[in-house]
Amino acid sequence: MDTDLARAWVQAIAVAVGRHKDYLTQLDSAIGDADHGTNLDRGFAAAATAVTDLDADTVGAVLTKTGTTLISTIGGASGPLYGGAFRALGKALDVPSADPEAFAAALAAGLESIQKLGTAVPGDKTMIDAYAPAVASFEEQARRRTGFATAAAAAADAAEEGMRATTPLQARKGRASYLGARSVGHQDPGATSTALIFRALADTTARP
Ligand code: ADP
Ligand code: MG
Repeated sequence: MDTDLARAWVQAIAVAVGRHKDYLTQLDSAIGDADHGTNLDRGFAAAATAVTDLDADTVGAVLTKTGTTLISTIGGASGPLYGGAFRALGKALDVPSADPEAFAAALAAGLESIQKLGTAVPGDKTMIDAYAPAVASFEEQARRRTGFATAAAAAADAAEEGMRATTPLQARKGRASYLGARSVGHQDPGATSTALIFRALADTTARP
């Protein structure tokens, strides 16, 4: 991944989130406060604009700018969680171009940031349930040297599987946890947006 690809990724996330804004909000209306789509749409639209105008020498500069913009524009739990994750990615990628191994390590730093701030573990019905398996898949592909596009596609598949697996879970973190057993039977909005973020990465890197 180079700076152009990093920019294209953030722009692709903004498009995907914009397209699925109502769906994300609908999921959040079932087990939250019905703002996840509008939150993320506002944040990623601002981030896409910010990185388009940014004069960046490193992948990290693009992703750090994305994180900072998300933190300052998204209200709610997901702003600091996603913002912190993108900043962690940015900090780990202080290079003009990153190979799959370096990107895998950065994704792991992003996961660590989300878990440090939110203290959620897999199975708590949060974005972690999509993010953690995506990182594990990306890492495995990086080890097998299958290339960036293959690693990103495997990560997106794993994120989507993790997203679907949140439906039967009872939420133990965030707003949805206030519902107790009533949170069962609904797909987690944050896990859904994480799956969109990884699918956007796969789509961006698959382009010839
Ligand atoms: P809010 O809950 O403040 O309204 P959003 O609706 O934007 O924020 O985001 C909700 C999503 O954030 C949840 O679906 C969940 O995936 C994620 N989330 C909430 N709390 C945590 C946490 N402690 N750790 C990880 N993810 C969390
Ligand atoms: Mg919400």
